[in-house]
Amino acid sequence: MYPTYGYAARDAASPLAAFEFQRRDLRELDVRIDVLFCGVCHSDLHQARDEWRNTIYPVVPGHEIVGRVAETGKGVTKYKVGELVGVGCLVDSCRTCPSCAEGLEQYCENGFVGTYNGTDRVSGDVTFGGYSTQLVVDEAFVLRVPENLELAAVAPLLCAGITTYSPLRTWGAGPGKKVGIVGLGGLGHMGVKLAHAMGAHVVLFTTSPSKIEDGKRLGADEVVISKDPEQMKAHINSFDLIVNTVAAQHDLNPFIELLRRDGTMTLVGAPEHDHPSPQVFNLIMKRRRLAGSLIGGIAETQEMLDFCGKHGITSDIEMIKMQDINNAYERMLKSDVKYRFVIDLDSLRK
Ligand code: NAP
Ligand code: ZN
Ligand code: ZN
Repeated sequence: MYPTYGYAARDAASPLAAFEFQRRDLRELDVRIDVLFCGVCHSDLHQARDEWRNTIYPVVPGHEIVGRVAETGKGVTKYKVGELVGVGCLVDSCRTCPSCAEGLEQYCENGFVGTYNGTDRVSGDVTFGGYSTQLVVDEAFVLRVPENLELAAVAPLLCAGITTYSPLRTWGAGPGKKVGIVGLGGLGHMGVKLAHAMGAHVVLFTTSPSKIEDGKRLGADEVVISKDPEQMKAHINSFDLIVNTVAAQHDLNPFIELLRRDGTMTLVGAPEHDHPSPQVFNLIMKRRRLAGSLIGGIAETQEMLDFCGKHGITSDIEMIKMQDINNAYERMLKSDVKYRFVIDLDSLRK
């Protein structure tokens, strides 16, 4: 076993605090990774505070992980000690169901194993995430990190990047397509960068007038203040795809009205409380679709990382120490993130 230092929430109401635990001995195909940086996803906050009502305490969040291979199990062939690698939201799945066979492990029909708050398929132990000094993961769920990118700014790609890349690919974002991204947070700013790089016409919807300039700098062709009905009306019946990343309950109708016939809005934001049902006629009159999308499988995550390497895409980050995490959560709740907090795990080693 490997003594490991992390930060955990002990219950839904307490702040995160220092927590010592053990990582498992290496299995045949395991890789032990020294965690260098870990992004802070809004899902970490939802789960630390049990907003999805399924948290097992103590919980060590963190699923946007980059680090260096420190040790490999006897059967490992994909990675060598010293290599830079990434781990996202998944650390295992059944690997045999139809979804797994298609490389869609996030939809594993027997339940994927989350990087934290998951249940290990062998030992039954609860998994602990990347707010920690090291990680032990099966090589099949480890990603290769492009070497030309700044490592800390790569970490958020492992969740925010793939969660926006996957629906953009699924619904065909590209040249000639008008794509909306709702919310300029961690997911949203990656959605803007990726949709722009795919060649789509990108419109950012934000509630924060202070983010207009940033939206354009990040790759939006247009920025719309979503609270302004006049600005919204100008885009009626025009979108092929809208990716909605908002982390709070809100009215979906003003966005659905902007879809063209056969257009799709996909929800990726996963708020504590469901959105009210949108108007049915708003959907049926134009054969519009309301969809959802969950992160991405391992193969698509590698494809996304390679795409980012090729296009020089990383996250805009603000580096924090592990000890600053509770303040970062409060700022995230105020939409005051530019545009992803990333924890420097050296702050736990000292
Ligand atoms: P984030 O950084 O906090 O960004 C969320 C953004 O939503 C904010 O920056 C803000 O953008 C907007 N927003 C927040 N509250 C709002 C409100 N009341 N009304 C309208 N807009 C509001 O969060 P994130 O890390 O990007 O995560 C976003 C959501 O996606 C979370 O619920 C998270 O759990 C979920 N998620 C889902 C998946 C998946 O697989 N489906 C994966 C990862 C995360 P503006 O200031 O621009 O309005
Ligand atoms: Zn996430
Ligand atoms: Zn499966």
